[in-house]
Amino acid sequence: MPEPASDLVLRARQVVTPEGIRPAAVHVGDGRILAITGLDAMSDTSPHPGQDLPEVVELDDHLVLLPGLVDSHVHVNEPGRTRWEGFFTATRAAAAGGITTIVDMPLNCIPPTTDVAALRAKRDAAEGQLHVDVAVWGGAVPGNEDDLPALHAAGVRGFKAFLCDSGVPEYGCVHPTDVAPLLQRIAELGSTLIVHAEDPDICADASATLDLRNPRSHDSWLDSRPPEAEVAAVRALVAAARETGGRVHVLHLSAADAGEVIADARAEGLAITVETCPHYLTIHAEDIPDGATEFKCAPPIRGRANADRLWDLLADGIIDAVVSDHSPCPPEDKAPDTGDFMAAWGGIASLQIGLPLVWTAARDRGHDLTDVVRWMAAAPARIAGLRDRGGIAVGARADLVAFDPDAEWTVEGTALEHRHPVTPHQGRVVAGAVDTTWLAGVPIFRDGTHLGPPRGRMR
Ligand SMILES: [Zn+2]
Repeated sequence: MPEPASDLVLRARQVVTPEGIRPAAVHVGDGRILAITGLDAMSDTSPHPGQDLPEVVELDDHLVLLPGLVDSHVHVNEPGRTRWEGFFTATRAAAAGGITTIVDMPLNCIPPTTDVAALRAKRDAAEGQLHVDVAVWGGAVPGNEDDLPALHAAGVRGFKAFLCDSGVPEYGCVHPTDVAPLLQRIAELGSTLIVHAEDPDICADASATLDLRNPRSHDSWLDSRPPEAEVAAVRALVAAARETGGRVHVLHLSAADAGEVIADARAEGLAITVETCPHYLTIHAEDIPDGATEFKCAPPIRGRANADRLWDLLADGIIDAVVSDHSPCPPEDKAPDTGDFMAAWGGIASLQIGLPLVWTAARDRGHDLTDVVRWMAAAPARIAGLRDRGGIAVGARADLVAFDPDAEWTVEGTALEHRHPVTPHQGRVVAGAVDTTWLAGVPIFRDGTHLGPPRGRMR
C-alpha cells in the first residue's frame, strides 16, 4: 500500500523530539505523523499526482512545537458528581492547556468504575462532550475481584487501589497486607496496579495524637499525613512487586523520603513507576496561609526542602511523570466559611495550568522543554499503555501543541475553563502559554478560542 499523502505540514525552528530540540517539518496525514524532515528537505509524503497540496503552517520563531501532553491523573467526576466537574469542562480546560489525552480516575464519579456497567455509563455520559481524547482507569476495590478481567478486556488502562480512606464512601480501600494477591491477579491480566500510597495505620496514629487547636492551620493537616505513611506504603508496594513480578505505579508521590526505596527497587529491576504533581513541586507548606483550604490535598503539600528533593528525583529519573491529580469540588465543599482544613474536601484543581507551572519552575532549575515533555507526555503515555502518543515521532498521533515558552501571565481562577474557579495557583505569575493545540492533526484551540465541535474520542 502506498503511504498516505500528508494533508498538513507544520514547520518550526524548534520541535521537541525524543532526541532533542531541532528545526523540523512535521508531515501529518490521516491524523498521524507520517514523516519528520529537515526544514529544507522534501518528503516522500508529498502529494501523489492529482492530490491537493498539503496545508503548510509556518510557526513563528518564538513558538516551540511540542507533542500534546498526556495527563494520566484526572478526576472528571461524571456521571454522578458532575456538579464537581464534567467531561465538557474538563476536556476544554485540557485542550486550552495543551493536553490532548486525559486518563480519568475511577472514583468520585458515581457509580465508580469498578465494573463494566459503570464503564459503559461513563462512556455514555462522555458522548459528544469530549474536546480531547479520554482513556479510563478501572477501580480495584474489596469485592470486585471478579470484575477485573472484563474491565481489562473493555479497555481500562489499569486498576486503581487506595491503601487508605478514599474520601468517598462508595470506594473502599485495600489494606497494604492485601496488595500482593491483588497485584498477582492484575499481573496475570497483563495490566498495571496504580496506587494511592499512604499507610492507613500510620495516618490513623498520627491523626489520633494530633493537636487540633488550630484546624485552620495547614500544619494540622500536614501532621495528620506524615511522610512515613507514604514511605511505608511504597515499601509494601515494592514488596508486592518483588513477590509477584507485577507492574505497580505510585500515584502523586509527595514525600521525597520514599525516593531511596524507589531507587533501590528500580536498581533491582522491579516494574515500579512514580508520578508527582505540579503542586508538590511548586508550592511549599511554609507559604500556605491559615484557612486557605484550596491548598488541601492528599498526600499533603510538604515543605520547601522536600520539594527541592522531589526535583532531584525527577532530574535523576526516579520520578517518571508529572500529572495534575486534578480533583475539583464545588467551592462550598472547601469549607470556605470556617477555613477548617480537617473538614474541607481534599483535592486541587490545576488541569489547564500544569504545563506553565512546571515549565516555569523547571526552567529556573536548568531544565529544557525536552525534560518537561518527557515528564508530562512520554512518561504518562507509557504508564497508561498508550503507545501511539506522547512524543513527536513517525507513526504517532498528530496531537501537537505550539507553545510560547516566554509568554508571562498571571493565573486567574475565573479565567480557567474547568467547572469551578477555585485553585491554589490563583495570582501566580507563570511563563509559557499555549498558542495552538492540534488533535489528530486538526486545530482544536488557537489564541484562546476553541475551534469546531468537540472531536475528542473515548478510548
Ligand atoms: Zn487523584
